[in-house]
Amino acid sequence: MLTLEKVCAGYGRMRILHEIDLHLGEGEIVALVGANGAGKTTTLRTICGQLRPMSGRLIFNGTSVAGRRSDQLVRDGLVHVPEDRALFGTLTVEENLRMGAWTRPAGEIEARMREVFDLFPVLAERRNQIAQTFSGGQQQMLAIGRALMAAPKLLLLDEPSTGLSPKLTWHMLDAVRRIRDTGVSVLLVEQNARQALGIADRAYVLESGATVLEGTGRQLSEDSRVRKAYLGL
Ligand code: ATP
Repeated sequence: MLTLEKVCAGYGRMRILHEIDLHLGEGEIVALVGANGAGKTTTLRTICGQLRPMSGRLIFNGTSVAGRRSDQLVRDGLVHVPEDRALFGTLTVEENLRMGAWTRPAGEIEARMREVFDLFPVLAERRNQIAQTFSGGQQQMLAIGRALMAAPKLLLLDEPSTGLSPKLTWHMLDAVRRIRDTGVSVLLVEQNARQALGIADRAYVLESGATVLEGTGRQLSEDSRVRKAYLGL
């Protein structure tokens, strides 16, 4: 579904990613873990078309997409949920969800909204509430719900647990697993390595802009370097 081969990217002339290799198969949750500043967010920005790779190959669904615009990628089924959630704060839940469906035929919207409400019932209860009055967890649910309205094949999630309690984090990551079970592939960036590795089919460790370890969630959870550096064990 997604392959990065020796991808380099950064800001201006400053290179942040140094030959990243990454593969994500259909129906997988792949986690990207690493310290602050390792380049996780930059990797997602590069995949979703916000940043143009300086070099390397970026393949989505068998097509080279390096340099393709974000809006085109959304139409192709690649949807990014940024860490700041980027909601329309003065719009209601329902209006935010409808905005997410801008690529979809009008006839699909109600059914998609019902699916989002099944996943996050609190959004149904508050469908007429203004987004900026929401708690952090509810805003995150709405951001993910809005992304699902675009019928993604691949969802890029940047730190969905930011600002959430451990209990809410489990709830959120369980929702990510249920999204995967509906056939959507997920690339999950998390600082919370323990929980991310707990739900990931496979994972990569990113250090200083390079992928340094790769394995199943379980393999990496048991790796002594990962345990020491990222799990505090
Ligand atoms: P965090 O968990 O802190 O978000 P991260 O692994 O996601 O970390 P990035 O946000 O990708 O890391 O940042 C990688 C490097 O790129 C950092 O040194 C950061 O200062 C730099 N950086 C991020 N955004 C920009 C930007 N817009 N312009 C210039 N440098 C940036």
